[in-house]
Amino acid sequence: MFITLHRFNANFKTQVASFNLKLGSMVFGSETFKYHLDAAFFNEIGQSEVRGSDVDATVTVDRKREDYFELKIECSGTLVIACDRCLDDLEHEVETTYEIGVKLSGTDYDDSRDELLIIPESWRELDVAPLVRDTVLLTIPMTHVHAHGECNREMESLLSDHAAEGLNDAAGSETAPEQDENVEGNVDPRWAALLKLKENN
Ligand SMILES: [Zn+2]
Repeated sequence: MFITLHRFNANFKTQVASFNLKLGSMVFGSETFKYHLDAAFFNEIGQSEVRGSDVDATVTVDRKREDYFELKIECSGTLVIACDRCLDDLEHEVETTYEIGVKLSGTDYDDSRDELLIIPESWRELDVAPLVRDTVLLTIPMTHVHAHGECNREMESLLSDHAAEGLNDAAGSETAPEQDENVEGNVDPRWAALLKLKENN
């Protein structure tokens, strides 16, 4: 039931906290846990668009009652993701705080509410990794592109070429530079374009 993260071995125990918080044995009051989030942290649950990460996270747990905890998740740093327009690396600044109550109640797990997480009374621990991960990932806007003029122009024009051919409706640039006559045969034109770009570099 609990996901145990083995990434931080025992040698680092004093510097890096475990994501598995032992709620059941916490004293009343506040306790703080600090983490550094790398790209592996975001990618270990499967596909993710995170290429790089240098994000610090602080989780403060305030045990208010026997069965109720207030969690405050503060994250700041930088993610590297792909630009939607040119696919080059794009730095995304993360500066966010998420607060959620955690209540021990009954036997069911219920995360359907934004501000309250209900976990079974029998749980002595809570893995906060998914909460921390979502807190950071939710800061990525639906459309993330470089500032005007900062895209990789070569890649952008190649992609918009194919947009003009109707292969990629999402690329969306209006400029459609002249067709590349060398791209032919059975090779997917997008791959051909990438190969050509590579050859030219
Ligand atoms: Zn770009």
